Amino acid sequence: MPQHIVVTGARENNLQDVTVRIPKGRLTVFTGVSGSGKSSVVFDTIAVESQRQLNETFTWFIRNRLPKYERPHADALEDLTPAIVVDQRPIGGHSRSTVGTMTDIHSVLRVLYSRCSTPSAGPATAYSFNDPSGMCEHCDGLGRTVRPDYDRIIDPTKSLADGAIAFPPFRPGTFHGQTYVNSPDLDPHKPVGAFTESERAFLMRGRGAKVRVTGSTFEVENDYEGVADRFDRLYLKRDLAALSQKTRDLVEQYLAEGECPSCHGARLNTAALAGRIAGLSIADCSRMEVTDLIPALSAVDDPVGGPIAAAAVTALERIRAIGLGYLSLDRPTQSLSGGEGQRLKMVRHLGSSLTGMTYIFDEPSIGLHPRDVGRLNDLLLRLRDKGNTVLVVEHDADVIAVADHVVDMGPGAGADGGRIVFEGTPQELRRADTPTGRCLRRRGGTKDVCRTPTGGLWVKNVSLHNLKDVSVEFPTGVLTAVTGVAGSGKSTLVSEAFTEAHPQAVVVDQSTIGISARSTPATYLGIMDSMRKLFARVTGTSPGLFSFNSGGACGGCKGRGIIHSDLAFMDPVTTTCPDCAGRRFKDEVLELRVEGHSIADVLDLTADQALAFFGALEDSTVGSLASAPRRQLSALRDVGLTYLTLGQPLSTLSGGERQRIKLATRLHRTGAVYVLDEPTTGLHMADVDGLVALLDRLVDDGNTVIVVEHNLDVIRRADRVVDLGPEGGKHGGEVIFTGTPAELLGAEGSFTAQHLRELVG
Ligand code: ADP
Ligand code: ADP
Ligand code: ZN
Ligand code: ZN
Repeated sequence: MPQHIVVTGARENNLQDVTVRIPKGRLTVFTGVSGSGKSSVVFDTIAVESQRQLNETFTWFIRNRLPKYERPHADALEDLTPAIVVDQRPIGGHSRSTVGTMTDIHSVLRVLYSRCSTPSAGPATAYSFNDPSGMCEHCDGLGRTVRPDYDRIIDPTKSLADGAIAFPPFRPGTFHGQTYVNSPDLDPHKPVGAFTESERAFLMRGRGAKVRVTGSTFEVENDYEGVADRFDRLYLKRDLAALSQKTRDLVEQYLAEGECPSCHGARLNTAALAGRIAGLSIADCSRMEVTDLIPALSAVDDPVGGPIAAAAVTALERIRAIGLGYLSLDRPTQSLSGGEGQRLKMVRHLGSSLTGMTYIFDEPSIGLHPRDVGRLNDLLLRLRDKGNTVLVVEHDADVIAVADHVVDMGPGAGADGGRIVFEGTPQELRRADTPTGRCLRRRGGTKDVCRTPTGGLWVKNVSLHNLKDVSVEFPTGVLTAVTGVAGSGKSTLVSEAFTEAHPQAVVVDQSTIGISARSTPATYLGIMDSMRKLFARVTGTSPGLFSFNSGGACGGCKGRGIIHSDLAFMDPVTTTCPDCAGRRFKDEVLELRVEGHSIADVLDLTADQALAFFGALEDSTVGSLASAPRRQLSALRDVGLTYLTLGQPLSTLSGGERQRIKLATRLHRTGAVYVLDEPTTGLHMADVDGLVALLDRLVDDGNTVIVVEHNLDVIRRADRVVDLGPEGGKHGGEVIFTGTPAELLGAEGSFTAQHLRELVG
């Protein structure tokens, strides 16, 4: 058995002929500043080739149905083992996918209830909300239903003649509206709120008496039909797809989504809900937090149920061990954060008996409080000890510390990186003269002079999710860090409660929204427009010529630079366009130059190089056209993304990079309130300094900045800390501390305080 995975001459993205031997059966952590090339080695080279080789073992018939991978740019890749990538991508899955179904614990409970509950509903499918024999008929197993929102449809303070029915197609004067106003059985001038019970029932569900309805061209006798019945018939009992988009949008405004009135959200039918074990129905089990479910199931000790319950407990213990004990099995996977999802996927793999695999993790510490990083390490090591090779891209010093082997990439980002600058043990790395080594050695205390708030923004009496009637003031004119263990309620407080109370807040998140497949830094920051004008002015042509989707674009690849050929029985190949050699424009356009650069040359420049290019033009006749791009590019520098080239597709950016490029377009305001969720995601320790400097500048420019953070290097340099906890889930949801970082050092009962003391200690 070969002892190493061997990569020779890797050249994906910025990699400069990287050759590396990775020990098998060990935990290897990849470190290095953002953009240094860690993902290019681990994901774009090792994981891709491993998947591709695995696919080759299948028949052509199956291969054509598998995702296609192209051979990575490398001289050789030897002795790979099958790779499993456990990343932050949202867990696929429809509204029926829950923590219980994705971890398979729900199936174990179903078996348990079918064998041991009294009364038993029958075989195990009778407890499945995805199976017709178990699902609630009312909501088809979704637990939620959509119903008309009568609080919006009817205004009880008004009479029918005054427009008590607010739903536009039923308003007075309309065809349907006249049915109600003209009905001889209803008083059109009495406020609907004053109707007797039977009048109200007639209004909603009544049937019968004809009503005269007139229009400019007709006069008919219309059958009376109650508001609720008519709404159901016209809009709910029909295939929604048959309605026009306009009608659907309108109707949606008058619908409310809520718990299913039949199963109360349990998703199961009455037979399935009747079965009990130790007084609990299967739905009760699904609703409990994992931490509470463990003791309940551990108490099941009869000969048949005992072993089944024990199997469920083993799996639940893994969820608790990974710091997710605050979740319940009925929690839809769609509502989990990326970090929570990644850790849950990990639980699934820990339960499998596979060995000899390569497990690859992308910053698994995201979203984890320092308290829980130790548990994460245990799980990574357990995966290794089962005989697997574990590769982790990580910035967290506590994760780096438990590695068997560290590969440090760098020294810089982009063209300044792409090499291995250190390989060895974590102890050796601490002594190494690399950016990572230097950061691991340094220490820092809490901020000594904190800014004085200029005012405050309140969030009052919030009881959303696990928050317990929380009222807290967020000071303005300062940098505030919101802290607490995972599940303590940080996102609920900041991203939901605060932004609802203060809608003017500028939320800078990590989503892909607003970024299209063709976006590049040049288009996203608006640099492309000024660049086109500049090229047209200098060369005496028209700006349209310099656009990817214009007459100036290469005809061979339509401005994409690459050609994708999908051959039936071969791996798909992406080749550089032969007409333009990847430059995207026609030769005539590429001959038009500014300071010796064609437009394609400028798109190949990194933000740093482009700043110099536009700077040199400042004193020329087109100086005014060069200053806008310079301003936009300096924003990119401010957020630490100078290593990106102007033409790099934004689809290749990580979540953290996306968040920072969005931030770049929202700088240079004053009096704004910025809200950021874990802005250190994907940032190396050396980059965190740059981020804190940026946040400080935003505050100095007269803004308020609120960050949800676990990174102690950010927390110690904030002006204020709002700490939530003490634990996650129902054992959290309270503000346990507010004050300066120095004051936090003395706080009792706060895990954040405890870890901050260890850091500065
Ligand atoms: P890290 O994982 O260390 O942050 P990456 O491997 O993601 O770094 O990126 C290394 C360099 O390659 C960066 O300059 C990045 O912008 C560039 N890069 C990454 N993916 C692509 C891509 N698909 N196309 C072009 N450049 C890319
Ligand atoms: P944090 O940001 O501190 O990790 P969250 O605000 O995400 O914590 O979660 C706080 C609590 O609210 C947890 O118990 C979590 O399970 C619960 N929660 C969060 N989002 C949802 C949701 N969409 N549906 C149900 N419960 C949720
Ligand atoms: Zn139901
Ligand atoms: Zn081309």
